[in-house]
Amino acid sequence: MISADDGAQYSKPMLSTALAQKKTASQLANSSAQDMSKRLNVAVIPHQRVLSLAPQSRTISTSIGEFSYGDLVLALGADPIPSKLQGDGADQILSVNDLADYSRLRAKLEGARRVLIIGGGLIGCEFANDLLAGGIVPLVVDPNPTPLAKLTPEAIGNSLKDELERAGVIWHLNTKVDRVNLKQNQLTVMLTNGLKLEVDGVISAIGLTPRTELAKVAGIATAQGILVDAYGETSVPGIFALGDCAEYLDGRLMPYVRPTLIAARSIAATLAGTLTQIHFPIMPITVKTPTHPVVVLRPGLSVKGEWSVFRELDIEHWLFRDDDNRLHGFAVSGTSAKSHPSLTREVGSAYPKPPAA
Ligand SMILES: Cc1cc2nc3c(=O)[nH]c(=O)nc-3n(C[C@H](O)[C@H](O)[C@H](O)COP(=O)(O)OP(=O)(O)OC[C@H]3O[C@@H](n4cnc5c(N)ncnc54)[C@H](O)[C@@H]3O)c2cc1C
Repeated sequence: MISADDGAQYSKPMLSTALAQKKTASQLANSSAQDMSKRLNVAVIPHQRVLSLAPQSRTISTSIGEFSYGDLVLALGADPIPSKLQGDGADQILSVNDLADYSRLRAKLEGARRVLIIGGGLIGCEFANDLLAGGIVPLVVDPNPTPLAKLTPEAIGNSLKDELERAGVIWHLNTKVDRVNLKQNQLTVMLTNGLKLEVDGVISAIGLTPRTELAKVAGIATAQGILVDAYGETSVPGIFALGDCAEYLDGRLMPYVRPTLIAARSIAATLAGTLTQIHFPIMPITVKTPTHPVVVLRPGLSVKGEWSVFRELDIEHWLFRDDDNRLHGFAVSGTSAKSHPSLTREVGSAYPKPPAA
């Protein structure tokens, strides 16, 4: 296993919840590359970036030389989308996508009182809640009228907005960041609506884009991500891809831990000699905002139907049903978030069960 970072094993979802717990980057790492190497009986080569792939000769190149392979698995992850902002403070903007980024964030937040987050999507909202819990005032800027605009019906985004606002988050919605300037350790952020905000740090949470470049240059088919078939194999036999860098059948990106583990198990079985298709169960997305938790299951892209609200004793459930009244998606928050397991089961009953892996 060759890794560009230190190869330590850690739970990446904790990157947006660890400030509240005052965890350092080293406290987040469960085991080192060396421990993992012993435990799993694999050779781990940390701090080495794969520079190119040569499928014809079945070799990869790194700065310490070439390695040959029998089969190859690409688990390259995704890059933060660059914020490309103007101003002499733009290079101070942080994005948090690995342990080293988290370490830089911790250092930057030392003594900080106000931090601006660019993007009110899932990761931006999680960071806002985490900063709050860590005693820092978060200011969130997003061009949409509500947070989680791409993920949930507006009412759910609004309920999260209201609850986080009550807890201390300052929203700047329907606007964008225009430029960031630096003056004596203070950042001045200009918004396109003309407002000027003084903050101690800026985090960009505007999304991630699958790392496809290595594959593309090597002639492996890519679209949004590295294209894989039902077995996780790319257009080049013997090369597989999974996780944030992969694009699964039906154009689906699955940038979450559980689908990555499911794909890993299936690909491992195939590589060990038992051809195994990847079957994803129904997997809702949980937004880790303890102030007001949100759980969402988006309907499949091809499903025709509509969102409507179902109220029970003042508790709202947003449900996506098709013309035959079958449930294909839901969005629940706050108290109603607790009903997500039964809703997930109801959605699951509309689909044939995948064979046991
Ligand atoms: C802040 C945050 C919060 C999240 N919260 C959740 C959550 O609550 N629930 C959830 O399910 N998911 C969450 N996710 C997403 C989840 O962490 C990812 O889907 C998962 O980690 C993907 O695993 P991966 O192996 O594809 O990529 P990564 O975990 O990013 O690993 C990619 C690895 O590839 C290495 N690499 C890249 N290029 C090269 C190269 N050229 N040569 C060698 N090595 C290379 C990198 O160094 C890295 O070690 C979150 C993500 C973030 C950033």
